[in-house]
This record gives sequence, C-alpha cells and structure tokens, in this order.
Amino acid sequence: MGWLDGKTALITGGGSGIGRAVVDRYVEEGATVGVLELDGDRVTALNEEYGDTVHAVQGDVSEWEDNERAVAETVSEFGKLDIFVGNAGIFDKVVQLADLEPDELETAFEEVFRVNVLGYMLGAKAALPELLKTEGCMVFTASYSSFYPATGGMVYTPSKHAIAGIIRELAYELAPKIRVNGVAPGYSPTNLSGVEALGQGESAADPDEIDERYPLRIPEAEEYAGYYVLLGSEENSRASTGAIIEADSGLSIR
Ligand code: NAD
Repeated sequence: MGWLDGKTALITGGGSGIGRAVVDRYVEEGATVGVLELDGDRVTALNEEYGDTVHAVQGDVSEWEDNERAVAETVSEFGKLDIFVGNAGIFDKVVQLADLEPDELETAFEEVFRVNVLGYMLGAKAALPELLKTEGCMVFTASYSSFYPATGGMVYTPSKHAIAGIIRELAYELAPKIRVNGVAPGYSPTNLSGVEALGQGESAADPDEIDERYPLRIPEAEEYAGYYVLLGSEENSRASTGAIIEADSGLSIR
C-alpha cells in the first residue's frame, strides 16, 4: 500500500532535480503522474522510462495554453486530477541590485517572475476546476528564500517570497475544499542554473564552506520528495493548509 494509491498528480518541472524526485516518489507511492516540463529531452526520457504511469507534456508554465493542455492531457490519460504540484522554477544566480543596470534588472524581473510567480498562478488556475471535482490539494515548491535573504538574489528572493503569498492566499481562498501547502528547500545540487553559488561568498567554490553553514547534511533532491508525499496525502496531512515546511538543513537556526 502506498500513501498515494489511486491518486493522480500533475507536477510542473518534473524532468529534473526536485520535481523529478517527486515524480519518482509519487509513482512509488501508487500515483499516476502528469508532468509539464519545458525541456523536450526530459519529457521524452520520462515517457520512455515510465510508459503507462507517467504522461509528460512539453510546455512552458508561464503560458496559459500549456498549463491548460497539461491538465487536459493528464485528465484524459488518467481520468481525474487529485494533486497539483507547482515546482518549475528558475534562479537569478544571486544577482545584487548594485550590480545590475536598470535594463538588466527589468529583464531579470520579467524572466524570473514570469516563471516563478505567474507560472505557479497559471498552473493553479488551470488545475483548479479538476481539483474542485476531487476535493484535491496543491503543493508548491517554495524555498528558504521565501523567508530569508542571501541564498537568492535581488530577483529570485522576492519571487520566492511571492510564492509564500500564493500558498497562503490560495489556502485562504480554497478552504475547506482544497488544501494548499508548500515545501521550502534550503539547498540541493540540481540542474538549477547558478544554484551551485548558494550560500557561498567571496571564497566561493569550497564545498566545505557550504557544509559549515548548514547544521544538517545537505540533502540530495530525492530527500525532499517525502515532504511532497506527506502534503499530497489527505490521510496524513489533513489538518494542514497554508503551511510551508522548512526543509533547509537547519540553515534558518544559524
Ligand atoms: P532543476 O533545474 O533541476 O529542475 C527544474 C525543472 O523545471 C527543469 O527540468 C526545467 O527544465 C523545468 N523548467 C524550468 N522552467 C520551466 C518552465 N518555464 N516551464 C516548464 N518547466 C520549466 O531545478 P530544481 O533545483 O529541481 O528546482 C525546482 C524548484 O525548486 C524551483 O522552484 C526552485 O526554485 C526550487 N528550489 C531549489 C533549490 C535548490 O537548491 N536546488 C532550493 C530551494 C528551492
């Protein structure tokens, strides 16, 4: 018996890193999974590897039509939608205000907010009619940067703070039918462009320096997946909505 037996999820950015780990774990826990993923090769890899249990669709979370299509194809393939996981995101390589020309700031704002903020809203909007039918739930990838500075830059950190707002606003709007929660990872080595700079200052690339900053060992992406299983499982987290679990290896207690 899995924690998600008989459930169907849609996971954005499920082709790599944390999203891919959640796809793998959701399937292990008995779910069928739709994926909306920008990278065509990762889409192909998922569909070839999983066959019947995963249906990956190539598209961009910041485009309404792609979100609508991903929901429609997931429902047509698996019959319903119980869990929406908003996860696809991009990084800003820890840019600081003083180092950005105004036009660079505007470009970075438009790129990062379009994916990280608008993308989450559009995905939630597209999934909502189906989730209302099943009284399902939403789980979003937030970040340590949803609460604190320094592990993102001038654009990523505000975008991740906005995600905390999306989670809380949606939790308020959609109760009691739909629970909306989040996971706030600290750092994990993934394909997120620039993320290897996390937490490192001038002395940068010494991995021991990162270890010293985190009270707990830095997890692999796979080690976050259990939080998404918990929050996607009505039986095991039914008293939580608007909650964001800090999974930051203890960074916030330093
Ligand atoms: P990743 O780059 O390994 O995976 C992200 C996936 O999303 C990729 O497959 C990418 O192709 C896809 N994607 C990017 N833009 C997209 C778009 N517009 N439409 C559809 N798919 C798109 O990165 P990751 O580290 O697994 O990041 C996943 C989430 O975790 C992000 O929201 C990120 O902000 C968050 N996060 C990551 C870390 C970390 O340290 N890695 C820490 C905190 C939060």
